[in-house]
Amino acid sequence: MMCVRCGLQRSGDEQFFVCDDCSEFGPLVKTIYSQAHQIFDKEKNLDPTDEDKAILRLLADTSFLNVNNPQTAIYYNLSMFFLQRASARKTDITESELNRAVSTTRSWTDALEIYERLGLVKVTTSRFERNIKLTSKMIKLADQFEVNATRSVENEARRAHTYAGYALMYVLNELAKVDSVEDRDSLPYGKSPRTLWTALMFLWGAANSGSKSFSEEDFARFLAARRIPSRARGNIVSRLQAFDGRSTQTLIKDVEVSGRDRVFKFEDYVLREMVRIRERARSRER
Ligand SMILES: [Zn+2]
Repeated sequence: MMCVRCGLQRSGDEQFFVCDDCSEFGPLVKTIYSQAHQIFDKEKNLDPTDEDKAILRLLADTSFLNVNNPQTAIYYNLSMFFLQRASARKTDITESELNRAVSTTRSWTDALEIYERLGLVKVTTSRFERNIKLTSKMIKLADQFEVNATRSVENEARRAHTYAGYALMYVLNELAKVDSVEDRDSLPYGKSPRTLWTALMFLWGAANSGSKSFSEEDFARFLAARRIPSRARGNIVSRLQAFDGRSTQTLIKDVEVSGRDRVFKFEDYVLREMVRIRERARSRER
């Protein structure tokens, strides 16, 4: 039988099940999503250098990890376009404008629906096409862009990754509720972001259990057990190896060679944030 979330196989009578790793990872995903969602909803700024908003960095890093993957790159491309429009104060967008701006091999309809559910855009349909209006929640980060006036390609990309990570967290949160094939088929694009889910299950799982580092061999083994293609894994590893500044992910701060293996060290904020996520979750339960 096969895990309906990650693809791990195990002998047994049922065709599908949910594996132990996925059952344990689900609540962490739901917690991270709900805490990030609150920040997007309620806070006046989305500055990830604020101690209590470091969770936004996790979101941006999530998008960074996967931006080569066309299945998830659409979220980044949409976010980038919306932010550019927001800072130009052009908050009404027609479907044909969106088609021209966001080139994609797949339709953006499912992704746009997520932005709508998150309250980042409002979509109305006129006689001939859809019209998209950016909400104040979407414009929030664009406004900070104006105030800080540090306009750089890297900054712009990081902001887009923050929103893309938020949309991806929405999808992961949906995947965290999947118990059957029917559930899985009802995910956006009828497909689960299995590579991203599995990679984060390993990375966040390690950080959440207090590990300061992990070995590439263990990472490879974990993904191989779930039949993640080695090319997809290679893509993520090469992203994790890039940690030279604002244009890269910030999950990893260093890589050390150890024999034939390599050891990846988590950036301090990742471990700190995992502790804080648990503390906040506990205090809300009380
Ligand atoms: Zn699983």
